[in-house]
Amino acid sequence: MKAKSFQRVSSFEEAYKLVKESPRNKIVGGGLWLKKGGMDVDILIDLSQLGLDKIEDKKDYVEVGAMVTQREFEQSKLIPEMAREAVKAIMGPGFRNVATIGGSVYGKYGFSDVVTGLLGYKVDLVFYPEAVVSLCEYVKKPGFFDGILTHIRIYKENLKGFFKKVGITALDYPIINVSVTKGKEYRVAVGSRPLVGARCEKAEAYLNEGGKDFAKAAEIAVEELNFGDSISTKGDYKKQLALTYVRRGLEEVNK
Ligand SMILES: Cc1cc2nc3c(=O)[nH]c(=O)nc-3n(C[C@H](O)[C@H](O)[C@H](O)COP(=O)(O)OP(=O)(O)OC[C@H]3O[C@@H](n4cnc5c(N)ncnc54)[C@H](O)[C@@H]3O)c2cc1C
Repeated sequence: MKAKSFQRVSSFEEAYKLVKESPRNKIVGGGLWLKKGGMDVDILIDLSQLGLDKIEDKKDYVEVGAMVTQREFEQSKLIPEMAREAVKAIMGPGFRNVATIGGSVYGKYGFSDVVTGLLGYKVDLVFYPEAVVSLCEYVKKPGFFDGILTHIRIYKENLKGFFKKVGITALDYPIINVSVTKGKEYRVAVGSRPLVGARCEKAEAYLNEGGKDFAKAAEIAVEELNFGDSISTKGDYKKQLALTYVRRGLEEVNK
C-alpha cells in the first residue's frame, strides 16, 4: 500500500467529509489489512484522537470503541469469554497489539474469527452518521455500510459459549470457524466457508423449539449454508468440519 498523505482528524464530521470526498480516502485502524491489500490510498484517515480506544460497561451492554486493539479486547474482563477466545486465535500477540476491532468487524472478511465469535452474542454496530445496525444484518447485506464504525455493543447475557477455529497451523487463516452459544436461546454460526460467518437459523429454530438431537441440528446447520473451495481446502471438507464442530459445540454448551 502507498498512501499520499495521512490525516489525524479531530472530529467524526471531518473524517466523514474526507471519506465522502473520494473512495481512495480510507479510514485506517491498525492498517494491517490495508497494507496487505496493497491498494494505493490518497488520504489515510486516522481516528486515534476521537476517544475510540475504550471498552466501557454501559449497564445493558459493553461498548467497544472501534480503535480498541484485538489484544486489549482479548484481555478485558468486560468482554465475554468466548468472544475473547475467538480473537486470541488470530496470529500472535504482536499482531493483535496492532489490529483493531473496528477494522476487523467493518471488513467482514470471509475468514473472520472475530465476526464468527461475535455472532454468538447480540451485537449492534454503531456508525457515524447516526445508524445502529445489528451485526447479523451487517454481515448478511452485501457491500459495506456507508459510514464510520465508531463502536460495537455486546449485550450482556448469561451464556455458555464454544468457539473453534480449524487451521493448518496456529498462525494460518481458518479453514473453518464455528461458534455456538446457549443462553435463553441457541445461536450457531459458521464462517470461513469461505464466506463470512453466518447464523444457522434453521438449526437454531430446531434447537429453540426443543430439538435435542445435536447431530441432527448440525446436519440442518450445514445444509442451510453454502460451502465453497478456498486456496487450501475443498468446500466438502469445510462442510464435514462444520458438521463435526457444530455438534461438538452443542454438546459442550450443554455440559
Ligand atoms: C497476515 C494477516 C493474517 C490474518 N489472519 C487472520 C485470522 O486468522 N483470523 C482473523 O479473524 N483475521 C485475520 N486477519 C485479519 C485481522 O485480524 C484484522 O481483522 C485486519 O487486519 C483488519 O484490522 P485492521 O485494524 O488492520 O484494519 P485496517 O487494515 O486498518 O482496515 C481494514 C478496512 O476497514 C476499514 N476501517 C477500519 N476501521 C474502520 C472504521 N472504524 N470505520 C469504517 N471503516 C474502517 C479500512 O478503511 C479498511 O478498508 C489477518 C490479517 C492479516 C494482514
